[in-house]
Amino acid sequence: GLTNMALEAEAKRMIADFEYSTEDVNKGVKEFIREMQEGLEKEGATLSQIPTYVTSVPNGTEKGVYLAVDLGGTNFRVCSITLHGNQSFSLQQSKVAVPRSLMEAKTAHDLFHFLAQQIEAFLKTHHEDHFEKHRNDPVEQEFFDLGFTFSFPVNQIGINKGKLMRWTKGFDIPEAIGMDVCELLQKEIDALKLPVRVAALVNDTVGTLMARSYTSPGKTKTLIGAIFGTGTNGAYVEKLDRVKKMKAVDEAGGGTNYDKSTGLMVINSEWGSFDNGLKVLPNTQFDIDLDRESVNPGIQMFEKRVSGMFLGEILRRALLSLHQHPDAGVALFRDVTSHDNDIRSTTTVAEDSALFQQWGIDTSFLSIVEEDQSDHLRITKQTLEKELNIGAASTEDCVAVKMLVHAIGKRAARLSAVALAGVIISTNKLQEDEIVDVGVDGSLVEYYPGFEEYIREAFREIEGIGEDEKRIRIGLAKDGSGLGAALIALVAHDSA
Ligand code: ADP
Repeated sequence: GLTNMALEAEAKRMIADFEYSTEDVNKGVKEFIREMQEGLEKEGATLSQIPTYVTSVPNGTEKGVYLAVDLGGTNFRVCSITLHGNQSFSLQQSKVAVPRSLMEAKTAHDLFHFLAQQIEAFLKTHHEDHFEKHRNDPVEQEFFDLGFTFSFPVNQIGINKGKLMRWTKGFDIPEAIGMDVCELLQKEIDALKLPVRVAALVNDTVGTLMARSYTSPGKTKTLIGAIFGTGTNGAYVEKLDRVKKMKAVDEAGGGTNYDKSTGLMVINSEWGSFDNGLKVLPNTQFDIDLDRESVNPGIQMFEKRVSGMFLGEILRRALLSLHQHPDAGVALFRDVTSHDNDIRSTTTVAEDSALFQQWGIDTSFLSIVEEDQSDHLRITKQTLEKELNIGAASTEDCVAVKMLVHAIGKRAARLSAVALAGVIISTNKLQEDEIVDVGVDGSLVEYYPGFEEYIREAFREIEGIGEDEKRIRIGLAKDGSGLGAALIALVAHDSA
């Protein structure tokens, strides 16, 4: 009856705020390109555009055995990757939890010694021959090159040099701050006489770029590695002469030597902070409130509209506002006159429902609802019950929830297109190459139904891409911290 239509009308009014028009997308791309350039010229720009000292990307013909380790938070992963040289590889790995006590160890030695011990154990198990042969008679040429993925803020000054800026994620070893983490690891590796050289310090987006570049069909080299997971970020291949700020780095002598012969430099854009000044990003009341009540207001404004950590919370705020609508006849999850197949349902919202708790809704909830094609949105109804403790939501409620989910998810995908298009256009790649290859990783792009198609739809609306959208190839690039790190160790070795 009347009430259902009132809810639908109100939901429609709300989703209109999430619409991100063709015109706005194009404005976004222009601003993205401007901020990219600014970041290449100077420090302190909204896009950090960090030079990674990786100066080439693989094409899938590379061969050899490489090691990779990953210290990201709770776990330490060690793996060895055998590159077969035909876009394929095999991988062996081990994983151990980092003991709590070591996260707050007295000295850096305690933690890094532990890491080196895990590498030793791994080599004994998986590469015993190599290990025994070279342990006491090290032939430098026979050393394994190792890529070190270290997911804490570091100031990278060379391909295997980076100083820890601060600890995050529960780690706290004050002594290590300001130290070169590669050197810390190498010292402990040497103390155990392991035939291993820490060849590269790896950022996960660069790993994604390298992993995709190796595995992408044919011998195509990849342009962009992008992550749409908990956060969002991208790395891409830039022409060295456009990285104006390298000059200052070179002159200051702070940076180490790097291979200039390729004329390329992989840049870690840190695009999560695109448009922190909110010149072009869409900004609903829910975005404003989410930001104000976050731990870092005014920061990572692009990421707060795009990534998995935030989409569930945007949705929660929208649903809550609809639930608390002053007109009970309009409100969501109110059992006023809602009917379901002519059976009166009694909608109940538990007092402790996740609807009322900051960060209460996970972004995987959006994927489930977006995917739901069941009769009367039965699956959405069940998921509301299971995950939000909202019992017997009406079909009309579920329709409104689905409309909002779709609007938030689609906006995120269109924003993602802005970042990707900004890089594709500013690098001029569509003019230079027949196929432009993009590697992506992260649960959002992997699991959110239609995410890639919404990106493509936006590409077609962008001046400078349009029909050429067909020539952009997007592929999943899993395992940036294993395969990707190994490949960075490889190119680091080759360019040393
Ligand atoms: P990370 O980026 O931390 O390496 P993921 O790529 O798995 O790891 O991303 C985790 C993020 O993705 C979380 O914010 C989570 O809410 C979100 N997420 C998990 N599963 C899904 C899903 N099925 N659909 C959309 N988002 C998801």
